[in-house]
Amino acid sequence: MIANFETLLESEETLDPQDWEQVRQIGHRMVDEMLDFLRDIRHKPVWQQPSVAAKASFKKPLPERPESLETIYQDFRENILPYPKGNIHPRFWSWVQGTGSAQSMLAEMLASGMNSNVAIGEHSAMYVDSQVIEWCKSMLGYPTEASGLLVGGGSVANITALVVARNAYGDRNIRQHGLRSLPGQLVLYASAETHSCIQKAVEVLGLGSDALRKIPVGADYRMDTEHLRQRIAEDRAAGFLPFCVVGNAGTVNTGAIDPLDEILDICREENLWLHIDGAFGALAKLVPEYQAVLRPLEEADSVAFDLHKWMYLPYEIGCVLVKNADLHRSAFALQPEYLLSHERGLAAGPDPIGNYSMELSRGFKALKVWMSFREHGIEKFARLIRQNIAQSFYLEKLVLQEAELELLTPVTMNIVCFRYRKPGLDTTQLNLLNREILMRLHEENVATPSYTLLGGQYAIRVANVNHRSRKEDFEALVAGVLRLGRTFA
Ligand SMILES: *Cc1c(COP(=O)(O)O)cnc(C)c1O
Repeated sequence: MIANFETLLESEETLDPQDWEQVRQIGHRMVDEMLDFLRDIRHKPVWQQPSVAAKASFKKPLPERPESLETIYQDFRENILPYPKGNIHPRFWSWVQGTGSAQSMLAEMLASGMNSNVAIGEHSAMYVDSQVIEWCKSMLGYPTEASGLLVGGGSVANITALVVARNAYGDRNIRQHGLRSLPGQLVLYASAETHSCIQKAVEVLGLGSDALRKIPVGADYRMDTEHLRQRIAEDRAAGFLPFCVVGNAGTVNTGAIDPLDEILDICREENLWLHIDGAFGALAKLVPEYQAVLRPLEEADSVAFDLHKWMYLPYEIGCVLVKNADLHRSAFALQPEYLLSHERGLAAGPDPIGNYSMELSRGFKALKVWMSFREHGIEKFARLIRQNIAQSFYLEKLVLQEAELELLTPVTMNIVCFRYRKPGLDTTQLNLLNREILMRLHEENVATPSYTLLGGQYAIRVANVNHRSRKEDFEALVAGVLRLGRTFA
């Protein structure tokens, strides 16, 4: 215990500013300078290696003495801000990464200022959160009786759905008795092109990665549903317990959309849970040309998608929707005395969100969605997503026009995979050449596409969820690849 507690309390402290005026001034400067930074982003490097001095500045011992906010902010401007990942830049197309917006930065500031813990209680953020879930359902045409949860991203959205799918299996109360209470091994199915987070989820769920049956894809990188049927039949014959199929609405490598209508039929016939990983592709449902192919999403048992990718919101925010809200709730609900809702007062309010979630404490992520959807209207997002897809077809066209470039798979949505080619080079040499071109594109500040391997061939991969990109940016990329290819081939 603390012996002199009463003397100690004669000089109580707080983290609040001693001089609010000073903090206000520097805060205004931060807002001004960040707005300028975002306004001028096109004229800044798309990528810049952090300097030796900057990296050294992050090797300091734990700070014991205070420093002024001014000094720290100066350090931020020198050592942090000049070396961003670049996903806010118009020529960034690596992995699948969103761009954010200036207005959402302000929303984050408001949310952070309120610092609401959106888990339980009668307060505004709980209602904003549920409003946003309703909007997400409506945006995707998902049933209104579904439940939903805002999470950190697609990975957590996917595992959340798979927990519900697993626990919904059979009548053995897996939550209480565990997987060993089942008469066999649960297995699930996903195409070989499925994102690695699904395997991770399966491992964390205690099923073991062997339980994830990776179904081959056709030449179009979509799941071969004949294989799926066969594998389910084989597994049943061998005494395994199939429980779920994961369909892709937009694979990470090529943007392929699995034949979701056939997969839905198979799931209905076989009584399997259909989960859809629509991390970015689910949002293409806003685009008229993609509505039909994505319609089965409306009937899936669960859908995971990100708002920090193709809804251009700042990190982090993803969403999972579960058609049967009771099953969702019964996979997570647990209410100890200290989390019981009351009839009135702060402890009243909507069903605590922890009843649908692994996480208890949660930030006010919903505010940036609520503000952004209202500020732009959903039609604007539909147009931007459509624009990104159109830009990808434009890049495909540019690639097809150049004899020195090779398209590695036809474009179907917002991902373009191509390489530089040169007669006489074998696959290994071409792979090394294109890898070198990619690193030079980054180092020479041309653009930051990423990479993957398609059928053993190294691809320069452009994944476009960028609301700042323009036609000329793709032209600059193609010119850069041609120039570098000619230099190094
Ligand atoms: C990005 C992505 C994920 C993972 O989402 P995070 O938000 O990065 O956790 C899962 N599946 C696909 C298809 C993705 O593109």
